Amino acid sequence: GMFDTLSQSLDKAWDIVRKDGKLTADNIKGPMREIRRALLEADVSLPTVRQFVKGVEEKCLGMRVVKGVSPDQQLVKVVHDQLVELMGGQQAELVTPDDGPQIILMAGLQGVGKTTACGKLALALQKQNKKVLLVATDVYRPAAIEQLKLLGERVNVPVFELGQQAKPADIAKQGLAKANKEKFDAVIIDTAGRLQIDDTMMGELREVKAAVKPTDTLLVVDAMTGQEAAGLVKSFHEAADLSGAILTKMDGDSRGGAALSVFAVSGRPIKYVGTGETMDALEPFYPDRISQRVLGMGDVVSLVERMQEGVQEEEATRMAKRMMENKFDYNDFLNQMRMMSRLGGLTSMIKMLPGMARVSEKQLWGAEKQFKKWEAMIGAMTDEEREDPDLLASSNTRRERVARESGEEETTVSEMVATFAAMRDNMRGMMGRMPGMGGMSNEQ
Ligand code: GDP
Repeated sequence: GMFDTLSQSLDKAWDIVRKDGKLTADNIKGPMREIRRALLEADVSLPTVRQFVKGVEEKCLGMRVVKGVSPDQQLVKVVHDQLVELMGGQQAELVTPDDGPQIILMAGLQGVGKTTACGKLALALQKQNKKVLLVATDVYRPAAIEQLKLLGERVNVPVFELGQQAKPADIAKQGLAKANKEKFDAVIIDTAGRLQIDDTMMGELREVKAAVKPTDTLLVVDAMTGQEAAGLVKSFHEAADLSGAILTKMDGDSRGGAALSVFAVSGRPIKYVGTGETMDALEPFYPDRISQRVLGMGDVVSLVERMQEGVQEEEATRMAKRMMENKFDYNDFLNQMRMMSRLGGLTSMIKMLPGMARVSEKQLWGAEKQFKKWEAMIGAMTDEEREDPDLLASSNTRRERVARESGEEETTVSEMVATFAAMRDNMRGMMGRMPGMGGMSNEQ
């Protein structure tokens, strides 16, 4: 399959650190060389590879040792995370407008599978119970309109066309008018492809785009073109402001570089991949699944995730103990926050903290942004204030000073003090109800 060679070359990287105790600046050099070579062989562009390797190195060195996880497993996890990031992180959905139909403009060079992708997408949207209209604006090749009509028949979706004499932008506009009038949910516009990028093609694409204001402008690229695919997405994006790409012929034996580097090079995500010639051979692009295919080690990735969660649990237990001893202070709180953000996933951590299920996450810390503020405010506290939370709770002057020194509003400081107190009470109450932990609670 597509990523076989890449997987095999990466295996060498894990082997190198397998016997070592942990990842160090020194022992990751060998695997980094292998990773670098593997990616270049897979046709990922050099700047992308450099950026990738640097990211992996940084993550490795900042990582703390997790019990039960070997260095090679840790490395697999880091490479996995970095691959997912490289491909844009989340799966990127098509844009769904608040009102009016989804309007998807399809662009691409000749022969990449653009018309086929129009048919596939029509079928996929239809499966979501959408009423879909295809619009044929490739007026240059006589066969193009016929081809789209044929595909339309196969997936049972009507095709709007005005023959070869009309202007593409006019066809698109009238197609959209029909869609609006007849309450279609989605319009897919096929545009003309050429062998090369040229000004005429770009000009026409921009005209059609201006005429219909698409919700998505997707470039269809062929995975077999390797590095070139990523470059094409970049130049089309610069010329015509794309919202994403569809990567076709993923079923072929390309080396995979395009899948890995489209987002990194163009800043635009792959939204779908084509995996065959039939109309149902279209899949959403999931960066994490692709990464697991590349690494061939989904089990290791989830093992490391589970172990990291184990560390979080230990930390939560330690914190619970501090609570029991009535010692939990702003220092603990800060440590806690730092560890959570390092491990990624404040939210998942919060769910593990005793008592937190009852407090809404949003109300408590909102997001990482909130944490930054807390960090600044705790940073502005004196040692005394950190160790004895009551000091801040009982003194206006102190809160004013913390606000001034952290650059936050006084109300923000008061909010933090109140949240901290609420959290403490909350946890104490819960602790009192836990078997074997009674005695602390004041809400008998
Ligand atoms: P266009 O010129 O960009 O509109 O390209 P077409 O849609 O006519 O496709 C060109 C050729 O590629 C056709 O033979 C398609 O069947 C084939 N094709 C399109 N997508 C895929 C794909 O995902 N996998 C494979 N194996 N072939 C594809």
